[in-house]
Amino acid sequence: MPEVIGTIDELRNRLGETRDKAAMLGGDTRVVLVPTMGALHAGHMALIRRARQLGDIVFVSIFVNPLQFGVGEDLDRYPRTLEADLQALAAEGVPFVFAPTAREMYPASTNDTRVVAGPVGSLYEGAARPGHFDGMLTVVAKLLNIVTPDTAVFGQKDAQQVFLVQSMLADLNVRVAVEVVPTVREASGLALSSRNSNLDPAEREAATALSAGLTSAQLDAAQGAAAALDAAHALIDAQPLVKLDYLVVVHPQTFLPIESDYRGPARMLVAAIVGTTRLIDNVSLTLA
Ligand code: AMP
Repeated sequence: MPEVIGTIDELRNRLGETRDKAAMLGGDTRVVLVPTMGALHAGHMALIRRARQLGDIVFVSIFVNPLQFGVGEDLDRYPRTLEADLQALAAEGVPFVFAPTAREMYPASTNDTRVVAGPVGSLYEGAARPGHFDGMLTVVAKLLNIVTPDTAVFGQKDAQQVFLVQSMLADLNVRVAVEVVPTVREASGLALSSRNSNLDPAEREAATALSAGLTSAQLDAAQGAAAALDAAHALIDAQPLVKLDYLVVVHPQTFLPIESDYRGPARMLVAAIVGTTRLIDNVSLTLA
């Protein structure tokens, strides 16, 4: 089983010892961090497998970060499955799990300093979940400062998160490499998500309209953005259990909505409420 570390001091000690030992033996001292909120599934495992290729000293953090949940969001019902998570991590040979309490990460004694996302942090997921990305960036910055990894691994599933993390690292001159792993999907196309466990069978079936819509958009992207959006809408809007929040095509460099005559690489983002569960997905497109 991986060693479960609950405090920042303990983590720094173990990290120091592990690095020193590896250096003494002439081994690999690269440290890789995979931040997660637990309830691990095959999507997380793809990140962890990639992490193992990028360095020997792998830390998986499991922390349901209260700061990135708004009032009335699903912080309380977010799935927590630590025992099963540890079994899965043991099978992957992960040596260390950092699983702090909220008190450890946000002690009452500190002054509540926060990272504030740039303007893209208020769009799409940020429009629906005000403050979400400030909370996410704050915890990522803290985890990077605690673990001091060479590389941090994130999933393409959360494309806006990846964009904002990369922006933060560039804007604040943080020397950590970011590795992005493609989205892992069920055979149905549904992107794996810890929140999928909240879906009943009918909702799960309906939720496949999101990935089906995105795939259809990819096929029609050669006819331009309007055609791609129409193709996705046709499948998503046909599902009564799926309440679309946004469907948008963004520029990969700015993450802002594209101009209607834009041609080239782009990303289509979707978010919807299925039953009571918020789901997101995205794909890359080449608009002609
Ligand atoms: P979470 O536990 O949902 O905060 O996710 C932790 C990391 O796993 C994030 O970098 C996510 O983007 C990534 N992730 C979640 N689901 C998937 C998936 N289906 N495929 C690839 N990466 C994922």
